[in-house]
Amino acid sequence: AANKALISSLIRDIPDFPKPGVLFKDITPLLASAAGYRAAISELAASAPAGIDVVVGMEARGFIFAGPVALELGAGFVPVRKPGKLPGDVYTQTFSLEYGDETLAVHTDAILPGAKVLVIDDVLATGGTIGATAALVNRLGAELVAVSVLLELSFLGGREHLAGLGIDNTTAVI
Ligand code: 5GP
Repeated sequence: AANKALISSLIRDIPDFPKPGVLFKDITPLLASAAGYRAAISELAASAPAGIDVVVGMEARGFIFAGPVALELGAGFVPVRKPGKLPGDVYTQTFSLEYGDETLAVHTDAILPGAKVLVIDDVLATGGTIGATAALVNRLGAELVAVSVLLELSFLGGREHLAGLGIDNTTAVI
């Protein structure tokens, strides 16, 4: 409870970013706090089931949390990136955003078939990003065991979107 209160106190609301009407949750004060960042990584790692082989994080804010959680769990880290960034052969997945489409990519040999995967991101909003990442994990033949996020914006229905895709093991720290 102390960790969660600390984390909440270090996330700042920025009105009208990146566009009018959006209240953006800014995690940079949390990252800048040694105790806050430590608490975030501890809580995310504690939310993970046992036996995770690989932690997947999405460019760019997901990387900040997924890497340290992988170290904490003794797991590997695999990046999911925007198109044109990964040097090897990739699988891609396109999904709809409010305006236009977004594509994510992963190396075709990034995860061994059957490996147990934890997906980590900073914020669960509509669930589009995590849904697309889950599709990439499936494409690799790996097993998506759980999803953990620091913060869930529950009014955007991301959890329901993920449940509709068969992903019902989502944990939010706050
Ligand atoms: P979704 O795909 O669930 O709609 O959006 C989630 C993605 O957008 C995450 O990768 C997250 O980094 C970013 N995002 C959406 N809203 C916010 C927000 O209010 N704060 C932060 N930090 N990221 C957000």
